[in-house]
Amino acid sequence: MQMIKRAFKTWLLWELVIGLSLTGRYMFRKKITVEYPEQRTPLSPRFRGLHALRRYDSGEERCIACKLCEVVCPALAIVIESKERQDGSRRTTRYDIDLTKCIYCGLCQEACPVDAIVETQEFEYATETRDALYYTKEMLLDVGDRLEAQITANLKADERYR
Ligand code: SF4
Ligand code: SF4
Repeated sequence: MQMIKRAFKTWLLWELVIGLSLTGRYMFRKKITVEYPEQRTPLSPRFRGLHALRRYDSGEERCIACKLCEVVCPALAIVIESKERQDGSRRTTRYDIDLTKCIYCGLCQEACPVDAIVETQEFEYATETRDALYYTKEMLLDVGDRLEAQITANLKADERYR
């Protein structure tokens, strides 16, 4: 009996009918495809993208070279060197992140006592070479300067920072 049923279904192209009926049902529904890059979906304030080093409003860099981010980084992606300045404060002379090693865990941001290193919502930074994904202090500060408004808004929206 089963065999006859199967043969009958094969002869009627039953699977094809089921598939086409599914297609037909979705044909007239509201489309949910996002036409990237013209259209974009909203990102969470906690989205972890490209890193940035931030400054205070005075222009002074926030980082105090405590190296907590370097220690906590599970991928050993951060390299910091520091020196005492003439005014007695300590600042980095080198702050590099190798983004080919980074796993975007966000621990560096969590560890930072002065909110200096953060991960932004920037995700369009694909490159053609691995070298270009090695971000130096100047590059990270540039990202921070460019995206400070976005970073501030995201930190305000994130209840962990309220
Ligand atoms: S996001 Fe994680 S892996 Fe990447 S630099 Fe920060 S701590 Fe390291
Ligand atoms: S970015 Fe933050 S955690 Fe890392 S060295 Fe600077 S102050 Fe310390």
